[in-house]
Amino acid sequence: MTKQKKSFFEMNVDELKEVCTSLELPRYIADQLLDWVYKKHQIKLEKMKNISKKNQAVLAENIDFSLFKNVQSDVSSEENAIKNSCLLDDGNFLECVVLKEKNYNTLCVSSQCGCPVDCKFCLTGVVGFKRQLSAGEIVRQVVYSFSINQPITNIVFMGMGEPLLNAKQVFKAIDMLTHPKLYDLSKRNITVSTSGFIQGIEYLMKNDRVVNLAFSVGSADPIKRERLMPVEKRNPIVKFAKVLKQYQLQHNRKLTLEYTLLDGVNDTDYDIKVLVNLAKYLNAKINLINLNPHKKIPFKPVSIDKLHAIQAIIKKQKCAVTIRYKKGQDITAACGQLGESYLK
Ligand code: SAH
Ligand code: SF4
Repeated sequence: MTKQKKSFFEMNVDELKEVCTSLELPRYIADQLLDWVYKKHQIKLEKMKNISKKNQAVLAENIDFSLFKNVQSDVSSEENAIKNSCLLDDGNFLECVVLKEKNYNTLCVSSQCGCPVDCKFCLTGVVGFKRQLSAGEIVRQVVYSFSINQPITNIVFMGMGEPLLNAKQVFKAIDMLTHPKLYDLSKRNITVSTSGFIQGIEYLMKNDRVVNLAFSVGSADPIKRERLMPVEKRNPIVKFAKVLKQYQLQHNRKLTLEYTLLDGVNDTDYDIKVLVNLAKYLNAKINLINLNPHKKIPFKPVSIDKLHAIQAIIKKQKCAVTIRYKKGQDITAACGQLGESYLK
């Protein structure tokens, strides 16, 4: 039977050092490996020149440096988004999207294969839950981007899945990605997006985890929200907002309310008024996302005129508001469009 190798990307610095010791390798090998992989972007052992052939052989036998079984990359027509559909060892998929800005790249990462939350406007919800991703599988999304010459400075947990339902692995990955010996990303450049789990925020407070948060509102009216987002049943928005406010008071970090506009559903003056009230209560910025349509989703986006009119109403209320322009809609890489790999 072949021995099950440990993935290099699952290990934080201490775990890697322990493994090197257990393999009777010098301890400095761990630092050399971290330097090759995360600073020099080299994952091929045989190219790591300062590691002897003998030690390379020991490492090759015990540690797995591979990223994904297969990756299909699609580039959007405007070349500002690259969607990577990555095949995992057990046949599941994850998808991550490089969003290209002028001077930096953001990676939209997945935290789960599929998603159990079942928001009615989201394709990942239609796919349903397949399994959790490990910290290493989250880290590998970033390593893969570097390997295709797309260096990443910002990370948003806005791909497939609900990050607060996989908090332990998500925060292990964040600790790794921000470690000085790994990519040394700034915590200020990492945003976790949630559909609103009270226990998730309580976990952050208990474990003193400080991140930028984005909250997917759907509707700020509890009755409407429950129809769109079943998470509302056990995590009423009124209670969630209180917990979120407590977190904000403790940490004073950026908070964004993501609002997906659904034509004729959550776009009335009343809807926008309750949204603005929520934003003011939480001292948050509003990010309007016009629905990215899909044949499996029973809603339509609002017109561009309506989108701008809503933005103007919010601005008039002295509330910070931006519009998230679609990137990669043509390759189903935009918000709420991930999960296509499962529908093929
Ligand atoms: N599960 C987390 C992270 C995913 S982020 C969350 O829900 O926050 C995905 C973002 O895209 C969320 O803000 C979600 O509300 C939004 N979204 C989902 N489906 C969408 C769609 N079809 N069009 C536009 N935005 C969508
Ligand atoms: Fe899951 Fe977020 Fe999609 Fe809702 S919007 S189904 S929480 S990925």
